[in-house]
Amino acid sequence: MIPLSPRALLLVLLFAPLAAIALAAAWYYARRVLAQRTAGGAEANFYRCRACGHVYLDYGAPAPRACGKCGFVNESIRGLS
Ligand SMILES: [Zn+2]
Repeated sequence: MIPLSPRALLLVLLFAPLAAIALAAAWYYARRVLAQRTAGGAEANFYRCRACGHVYLDYGAPAPRACGKCGFVNESIRGLS
C-alpha cells in the first residue's frame, strides 16, 4: 500500500470526485457536439431552386426534392458534410 499523509489523503478524496465529474461533463458535451454536427447521422444536401432561386437543405440520401416556396423539383447541388 502507498503511504499517504492525512493531508494528501484529504486532497485525493476531495479532487477525485471533482475530476470524475469534469471528465463526465467533457464526455457529455463532446457527444452532444458530435450529434449536432452529424444532424442525427444524416448528411445534409444543398439545393438551389432553378425556378425561384430559393436555397434550402434536406437530409438523407441525395434525391430530387421539391422547393418549399414554389414546388419546383430540384437536384442536389452538393452534399455538405
Ligand atoms: Zn422554388
